[in-house]
Amino acid sequence: MRGWTRNIAAVIGMALATGAMADGPAPDQKAFRDLYKELVETNTSASAGDCTKAANQIATRLKAAGYKDADLHLYAPPELPKAGLIVAKLEGTDAKAKPVLLLAHLDVVEAKREDWTRDPFTLVEEGGYFYGRGTSDDKAQAAIWADSMIRFKREGYKPKHTIKMALTCGEEGGFTFNGAAWLSEHQHDWIDAGIALNEGRGGELDANGKKVLLTVEAGEKTYQDFQLEVTNPGGHSSQPVPDNAIYRLAEALVRLSKTDTPVTMNDVTRAYFTKMADIQGGEIGKAMKAIVKDNKDAAADAELSKNKGWHAQLRTTCVATMSDAGHAPNALPQRARANINCRIIPGVAIETVRQYIIGAVADPQVAVTLTGPAAVEAHAPELTPAVMEPLTKLANEMFPKVPVVPTFANWGTDGRFLNNAGIPTFGIDALFRDPDFSNIHGLNERVRVQSLYDDREFLFKLAKIYAGA
Ligand SMILES: [Zn+2]
Repeated sequence: MRGWTRNIAAVIGMALATGAMADGPAPDQKAFRDLYKELVETNTSASAGDCTKAANQIATRLKAAGYKDADLHLYAPPELPKAGLIVAKLEGTDAKAKPVLLLAHLDVVEAKREDWTRDPFTLVEEGGYFYGRGTSDDKAQAAIWADSMIRFKREGYKPKHTIKMALTCGEEGGFTFNGAAWLSEHQHDWIDAGIALNEGRGGELDANGKKVLLTVEAGEKTYQDFQLEVTNPGGHSSQPVPDNAIYRLAEALVRLSKTDTPVTMNDVTRAYFTKMADIQGGEIGKAMKAIVKDNKDAAADAELSKNKGWHAQLRTTCVATMSDAGHAPNALPQRARANINCRIIPGVAIETVRQYIIGAVADPQVAVTLTGPAAVEAHAPELTPAVMEPLTKLANEMFPKVPVVPTFANWGTDGRFLNNAGIPTFGIDALFRDPDFSNIHGLNERVRVQSLYDDREFLFKLAKIYAGA
């Protein structure tokens, strides 16, 4: 009975989700679903996966749609033959118009079959959702871009601006190669563009599945690790002394945990909190307005910082993520170390953050150094009316009354490589996700079927708008 009820619910959910009537989905929607299924079912995790295989599958489909070898670039680093990428091109009619780049990554975070309810590398449609690793991050967008390129070709679309597509490997960090970074550095002309559309935060649904807002991501934080280190002569653990490296480090970490960097706002966060104030209303809305007016409003900061996402939008964050201390169970520790991971607001210097940590730790015997070389600081692209207006207009047509909210990523994406290489890159998609963010990177990653099909139409139309402007 339970099974029967669930199956009926799944069928109804699917019919509602796809808009399919008795005839089933339209042929082009079926072609998209096949492409998406093939992509999700091709394991592209770093341990056992193969991005090159996925890139070749896409190449086969593009060629079947009419793309010539000269329109495509396939590349895999010789030392990592499974970290391949694909770049494709649809020539524009105006050689002077700057190309539009459609960017997504093929690789996914690891997923273990034994931990998941369903096989992570089988596309399962159930109860109005697609389940599988990458169904959301980022094979939704990768499949939509490949499908859009196929649709452009099939309908004989002649864009004014050349449209380029780059599906890369290594964004999730498991591969020791990053396709977007490699392209930016070694084949800039393959991807050079006046604007790039990349994965973003998408849209947010409330607990009832109602669309709350659609985001556009302009820029992201800079990632930098720091090391705290305490050294000590050590000695025999049968005769402890007060000066102990582990205790000293622990106290330093506790002091760091009790401080926060100052609120640091920029154009994007001011726009974000101004828009969100109207959406939220009430006390939270008031706090958002107050923080935009006065960054130093401690009461507003405290109210908003109860939400971990807003806390991270307001400031650079630094947190202990690993520690390592001592060398023997029967010896006083000679060394104690911790890794502090910081996510830095664009425009804040790395040395400023190091000085903040030194101040918070407040112990000259705790050395604070950078782990590895200093990160390249992320540059935020300017969210101009030329970018915002067409996007907002299309969003208003497709999703009436859903506000479009600028934001920046608290985490890193491939956008930083392109932004730093002079290609303004925005995180734009209309994948409306549940409040838990579809458990991206986690177990049982999923996406609403309807959200995926909506996003497909949205991105297809949006690419055409930018390429035709
Ligand atoms: Zn991603």
